[in-house]
Amino acid sequence: MGLNQSVLVCDQVNPILNEILEKNGLKITYEPEITHEGIAEKIANFEVIIVRSRTKITKELIQKADKCQIIARVGVGLDNIDQTAAKEKNIRVINAVEGAMNAVAELVIGLMLSLAREIPRADREVRDGNWIKKELMGSELRGKYLGIVGLGNIGKRLGRLAKSFNMNIIGYDVTPIDDEFSKEVGLMKADLGTLLTSADYVSLHVPLLESTKHMINSQNIETMKNTARIINTSRGGVIDEDALYDALKNGKLAGAALDVFEIEPATSNKLNELSNFISTPHMGAQTKEAQSLAANVIAEKIIQILRGVI
Ligand code: NAD
Repeated sequence: MGLNQSVLVCDQVNPILNEILEKNGLKITYEPEITHEGIAEKIANFEVIIVRSRTKITKELIQKADKCQIIARVGVGLDNIDQTAAKEKNIRVINAVEGAMNAVAELVIGLMLSLAREIPRADREVRDGNWIKKELMGSELRGKYLGIVGLGNIGKRLGRLAKSFNMNIIGYDVTPIDDEFSKEVGLMKADLGTLLTSADYVSLHVPLLESTKHMINSQNIETMKNTARIINTSRGGVIDEDALYDALKNGKLAGAALDVFEIEPATSNKLNELSNFISTPHMGAQTKEAQSLAANVIAEKIIQILRGVI
């Protein structure tokens, strides 16, 4: 039997999501540019609200959402949805962790290679007419120690990809790491302190929580190798950006690449002044494959919840 609930789609999503929902009878209102005020005006009419990262579903909006059964985030992090307010109103909050896993892990590999071989600089110089081959003596990932902080979906995928580059994998997580994965990649489990002192590359894959805010800071950067490089594709705020800036400027760290920042867009961030720093615009999950997978997963979950299956 067809469903007949109304769905408000507040951000730009892969068209496949709307297609699947419509095929199942749901009525879609697609407003990818809708403002906060616009949502406030009409949220009471919808059973399902869908967002990506642009839209914030605040407590104030949720309090107006009298018919709402589901708030869906076509992505991983749920920091743009007030989950406590949703719970109080008995609204299910769902996401699609599967979508971004490979896309983010591949971006980390790209950023490690970019740091190791200075690919962004090489490209800029050649375009400017400078054939600087002699200045570009890089290093290889093979044989280097990669410290992965947070071995959830993305951290584990990265471990598997990095293994195929013959990197040595060190891992730290607050929850137990599964044995099958550890065996597969030859994981060396360590506490955060040991990981940071041993790694040539450190990649962060934790959520932003009280306990992970400024998890990388001036004190523990001090213990790292001067040749080490940090990559953050998790959430801005996990690294203390001032401490990172000082470390990169003073040669305490060799390089860093960030996809996520404390304040986004990060176009005026002072880190951009540094030649040993690479910046990307929070594009970890920005692949066709990731967006299509997330859209399929979310559509399926919405249908199953509305049909009472899950
Ligand atoms: P996940 O929940 O599968 O894994 C997170 C892991 O971090 C868990 O294993 C958890 O136990 C661990 N953890 C939590 N607190 C910790 C702590 N204090 N110390 C060590 N480990 C800790 O999440 P995921 O899907 O792998 O996503 C990881 C991060 O990537 C999230 O912050 C997510 O928001 C972010 N992300 C970014 C992009 C992007 O576009 N750059 C895309 C998707 C996800």
